[in-house]
Amino acid sequence: MTNGYFVTGTGTDVGKTVLSALLCAALDADYFKPVQTGPESDAGMVARLTGLDASRIHPNAVRLAAPLSPNQAAELEGATLDIASIRLPATSRPLIVEGAGGALVPIAPGQDMAALIARTGLPVIVAAHSGLGTINHTLLTLEALTARGVEVAGVALLGEPNALNRRDIERLGGVPVVIELPWIDPLTRESLAAFVPALKLPGRTAHAGNGTPPDVIAMDRDHVWHPFTQAATAPAPVQIVRGRGAKLFTADGRELLDLVSSWWVNPHGHAHPAIAGAIARQAATLEQVIFADFTHEPAARLAHELARLLPGNLSRVFYSDNGSTAVEAAVKMAHQYWRNQGRPERTRFAAFTGGYHGDTAGAMSVGLSSGFYKGFEPLTFKADFLPYPATWHDDPDIEERERNALAVIGNYFGVHAGCVAALAIEPLVQGASGMRMARPAFVRKVSELARQAGALVIYDEVMTGFGRTGTMFACERVEFTPDIICLAKGLTAGFLPMAATVATEAVYDGFKGQTFDRALAHGHSFTGNPLGCAAALAGLTLFEEESTLSRIAALEAVHAERLSALAQPGTARTLALPHHSGVAHPRWLGSIGAVDVTLGESGYGAAIGSKIKEFFLTRGLYARPLGEVFYILPPYCLTPDELHLAYDVLEEARAELGG
Ligand SMILES: *Cc1c(COP(=O)(O)O)cnc(C)c1O
Repeated sequence: MTNGYFVTGTGTDVGKTVLSALLCAALDADYFKPVQTGPESDAGMVARLTGLDASRIHPNAVRLAAPLSPNQAAELEGATLDIASIRLPATSRPLIVEGAGGALVPIAPGQDMAALIARTGLPVIVAAHSGLGTINHTLLTLEALTARGVEVAGVALLGEPNALNRRDIERLGGVPVVIELPWIDPLTRESLAAFVPALKLPGRTAHAGNGTPPDVIAMDRDHVWHPFTQAATAPAPVQIVRGRGAKLFTADGRELLDLVSSWWVNPHGHAHPAIAGAIARQAATLEQVIFADFTHEPAARLAHELARLLPGNLSRVFYSDNGSTAVEAAVKMAHQYWRNQGRPERTRFAAFTGGYHGDTAGAMSVGLSSGFYKGFEPLTFKADFLPYPATWHDDPDIEERERNALAVIGNYFGVHAGCVAALAIEPLVQGASGMRMARPAFVRKVSELARQAGALVIYDEVMTGFGRTGTMFACERVEFTPDIICLAKGLTAGFLPMAATVATEAVYDGFKGQTFDRALAHGHSFTGNPLGCAAALAGLTLFEEESTLSRIAALEAVHAERLSALAQPGTARTLALPHHSGVAHPRWLGSIGAVDVTLGESGYGAAIGSKIKEFFLTRGLYARPLGEVFYILPPYCLTPDELHLAYDVLEEARAELGG
């Protein structure tokens, strides 16, 4: 990762360029000004003040003639900028990056300087005048940067030193003043260099504030109970201090590429400034309100948006807290719907072998065959499990397996027609049981069979929703509109636990009546939480702003290329291996790629999974195989190059662990 600083200012002409030159001199750093507007060249001044040779003063990424804000200058030239196209130059030295104008200067529609800063991941030093008005200007800049997830390393005060201003900025802004730099006259390389010793740059630490950092691992060991973890044998967890894009940063200074979207929740990348900002604004406005008797704009707007995005008349949004509660609410809706309709005999629930729907009792009941609930069976109600013809690339027998499954399913619905309350299915991909994929026509056919038998159709799109399978929702590709759809995970862009169970208007109407006993008597303390809704709305906006679906298509192309090559002996990038140490059943859809890894002796599924996890960790990638199923389910901001890297590492693992 590049180290160095991004230099921004409280305005133009506060001395950013002089400060940048000083930092270059102090750190023996290279200089880069990504966006230069106007006739002057700050690079020339930095060259003069540092003596850096031309190879270390990197050319501007964007040069615009008019001395205006970048977006206005670009507009004059009939251009639209995009910060995604601005890359930091490669250098082994520290890098000082100088912004144009202040933090909120617009660069392009929806993109300001702070967004560019956040993208670089560099800590910021804010240049400010030392005189009157500086406290207000500086605090405003610090607040804006912090709200956008930018790490502020310090403030530089330029001009006549003022001890009281310095004190108040440090106190109120919570950041150090790294230097007070008086006007230097004459300003030369030598006169500037004299101030290098005065510069007090903070070390980059995970821990904000004074004193020794807390021993997080010890506190965790003593008091935290982790999910799906055998504490007696599990290694200590890794402490994560920051996230940015597809990367996680550990307390001991490592970077990890998050190949599993942090348990499948994160679509747009970690700590995305647009989402962080939306949550911060909402938190300062209305953090939570009881959702019976009251409503609020974020919840109403999000329901409106979801209804617009979802197919058919899926237009009634019931909010809850997570994927399990979304399913729990759906199951209770289906059950009560038929009681309300005067059809109390419709009590059966049908689901699929291998289906997973969450960890609460109702969700366990319809997911019992996934094998995650050994010992909890007595707490569940009885559901019926139908065969699921999982398939993969170049699967020769899928037609036959689907035919057989449909015969069993057709028979089931024939026998139990009129008695089934609902069918629950993870459309197209069964996630937790190993990224088991089904063809759209099969999912459509079973959905139709259920509907013909009078059952409601529940699609659990907790994992598949929000672009995961390449379309916004998997049901689009299935071309079937369920009666109830469950959404969670990616709903809030991975920031907050919240879920939505969305029903058709017809289902909703089934709960209307003059008495309370027809109403859905279900709810949670945090139903409709405004912060979750604000995050979700911001996340949905990003799908358009960042062309997310086309990014997913680019990832799918890499999955297809690498997985089909991997499964073909001799065509993988590394050497071909004997058959017994192979991989099998490559499959991919949208952003998801998966393959069964049966390296070495078979029957050691779980062991190979944790070996692969270790192998990836040592190379700076986080994967979490499901037993012997290796899968990649990344944030959509992962680049195709990074995805190639993940497959390179898988091929390496295959060569090393399989031998
Ligand atoms: C993860 C998942 C759930 C459960 O969601 P939680 O938020 O973990 O409770 C339910 N259904 C599917 C398909 C899932 O992948």
